[in-house]
Amino acid sequence: MNKSNSGNVVKVDNNYTFCPNCGKILFIDGKSRCKKCGSYIPMNDSKGEGDSSSDHLPNELKEIKIGIKKDISSATVEWEKYFPYLEIRPLQKQIIEKISGNMVQGSQIIIQAANGVGKTISLLAAVLPIAKERKKTIVYCCRTHQQMSRVTEELKLIKQLNQVTGLALRGRRELCLHHIIKKFAVDAANASDICRYLKKEGKCKYFTNLAKKPKLESVNKIVQNKVLDSQELIEIGKNLEVCPFEISVKSLPKANVVATSYQYVFNPFIRKILLNNLEKELSDLIVIVDEAHNLPSTAVDISSSSLSNYSIDNASSEAMKHREGEVYDFLESLSDTLMNEIKSMY
Ligand code: SF4
Repeated sequence: MNKSNSGNVVKVDNNYTFCPNCGKILFIDGKSRCKKCGSYIPMNDSKGEGDSSSDHLPNELKEIKIGIKKDISSATVEWEKYFPYLEIRPLQKQIIEKISGNMVQGSQIIIQAANGVGKTISLLAAVLPIAKERKKTIVYCCRTHQQMSRVTEELKLIKQLNQVTGLALRGRRELCLHHIIKKFAVDAANASDICRYLKKEGKCKYFTNLAKKPKLESVNKIVQNKVLDSQELIEIGKNLEVCPFEISVKSLPKANVVATSYQYVFNPFIRKILLNNLEKELSDLIVIVDEAHNLPSTAVDISSSSLSNYSIDNASSEAMKHREGEVYDFLESLSDTLMNEIKSMY
């Protein structure tokens, strides 16, 4: 196997062949066709297009069996208790063993691997036994909501084999059931402000319901020991008429794995809230960063402020409405300056 190793960076994508037609990593079906685009791939030692066996393929190209393990024997090594599939690809095993070794030494690891290798399940299987033993929470930072769902899907399979809890943590704007936020909140900060106001004024039934003992008991019973994705949180919230965001916050201290966006770890303000809700210190977390090459641009976003023309116009209208002449003049001059700047760029 053509493995390149540089410090803690493990390059595994060199091991793969890519489809000459679609360029995706090549998994071949029983008829020697690329599973992604369906084009015929002649194999050197192919037994012909009608051959339904994949025995002639190199190990790296074999698809893993879809079956799920039903039980684990006493001789099973720790990570195998968290790997739910019947078979493991050689690259997945390499990743798991590399991570386990590094974590025992307390060091960091960077994994570079192509799409389709099965990184998510490999990472979870490697890290979960160590996290549980050391009573740490895994925070799995994802760039997209789809990747968060992938984490909860894999956790649900692991749960069939071994007890594990977790959730996909999304913001108020995505989880809120209140019609005002659903209709008017323009961003996360705005949703947070409106929510604070509604809670303070007692105008959100989904929040006030949580103070009712029977509702709270029902919530606790339903979410106990569960793996929950955002859609399930919303469904539970709708059924019980309680706030899905607050349910997710209440579930945090018991979660083994929290799949969330980069902001929850790399934005110092939001991280403080997360740690508070987890009832943990930063040193109690094991952080996995998916697609970590996006971190520099995320850091730039977190450190940047922006002010839209739309916000300035709204503020001007408010200032006029409340007869704040000085503020109005300042905002108008700010708007003119910005518009002139923009025009001078073209
Ligand atoms: S408490 Fe929940 S449902 Fe109510 S406004 Fe806030 S986020 Fe929305």
